[in-house]
Amino acid sequence: MVETNMLEKYAELALRTGVNLQKGQALVVNSSIEGVDFTRIVVRKAYELGAKNVHVNWSDDELTLLKYENAPEEVLTNIPQWQVDKQLSFAKDGAALLSIRSTNPDLLKDIDAERVAKASKAGAEAMKEFRTYTMNDRIPWSIISIPTGDWAQKIFPEKSKEDAIESLWEQIFTIVRVDQEDPVKAWDEHNTLLRKAREFLNKKKFQKLVFKAPGTDIEFELPQGHIWKGGSAKVAGTDLDFNPNMPTEEVFTMPHKYGVNGTVASTKPLNYGGNVIDNFSLTFKDGKVVDFEAEQGYDTLKHLLDTDEGAKRLGELALVPHESPISQSGLIFYNTLFDENASCHIALGKAYPTNMEGGSDMNDKELDEHGVNDSLTHVDFMIGSADLDIDGVTADGETEAVFRKGSWALDFDA
Ligand code: ZN
Ligand code: ZN
Repeated sequence: MVETNMLEKYAELALRTGVNLQKGQALVVNSSIEGVDFTRIVVRKAYELGAKNVHVNWSDDELTLLKYENAPEEVLTNIPQWQVDKQLSFAKDGAALLSIRSTNPDLLKDIDAERVAKASKAGAEAMKEFRTYTMNDRIPWSIISIPTGDWAQKIFPEKSKEDAIESLWEQIFTIVRVDQEDPVKAWDEHNTLLRKAREFLNKKKFQKLVFKAPGTDIEFELPQGHIWKGGSAKVAGTDLDFNPNMPTEEVFTMPHKYGVNGTVASTKPLNYGGNVIDNFSLTFKDGKVVDFEAEQGYDTLKHLLDTDEGAKRLGELALVPHESPISQSGLIFYNTLFDENASCHIALGKAYPTNMEGGSDMNDKELDEHGVNDSLTHVDFMIGSADLDIDGVTADGETEAVFRKGSWALDFDA
């Protein structure tokens, strides 16, 4: 049995540290019926904290699957305006948005990939205006995860459903620091560390980062004007902090799309489109993949790299110390929110324009000139380990240790 006390602490953490719910504010919760018990705790706590209204958008994996199996394509690709208006009306009222994810990584594995792609594209297009509220931090938003049977048994295949769910809860509590005496305070300290790291790196303006580990010897040029991000964000025009992702362990920026040279080896399997790519390496010249190998999933990797021109170049470079709680668990979560926070990673494909000074206002040509990669895809994979050393090279050619044996070698207070 999962302790009610821990669920209460988790709910409170999501509301206070996640969306930083304020008195008199409305809260919108996205959740699934598998998480009904936990969601009810969240709703009760939200009212206790002074929410004026809590609205829950319920989903049900079984019903989602039935719709994908049976509904005609025009139903899947036509998002009714009232659905859009409902979300927009909350956003315009300044509501907080909490998404409680309970993913089944294999839910749609037997549905035609094109059907899924068309439906999610239609959804993304319909929600474009609403997304300007979250993407630009105009409202506080946060994503947390809770176990489902399918997800838990994918991580712990040898366990019964109940045991697997309980084990996954325990892992989540540790990773999200709910098992600490005062999780809100633990997150304040964690965010302070991430802020110090990103501020240090933003001041340092390294021109290049050099990664060395078994199978890895690669240089990432960082474009002029690159910005390191990570940890808590602020609601636009206010001093209110919120945490978009829980967990989050990374500080990240973009490598120059034409400035990556050398070979990098993966350190964890990559689950892509329901297939696993494992023990793979990529060789880059002037930012582009010119050679690659994979012990498992070679064809899947080839397919990924062939998505478009930008899929052969990088859009993200993230630093995560090897002693992160997710890495310590030694597990593969088949969930990006967890896996990408386990260790240092890079992403093939699109870069976040917000990682570049003025990037949000640049057109495609300007982004390209500044070394910001563009692609339909953005796929993170892990390259960190206890053997990873990183050196930073400054504008005046000086070299400084950034990581040694998988962990920070910098003194952020210096
Ligand atoms: Zn990342
Ligand atoms: Zn990423």
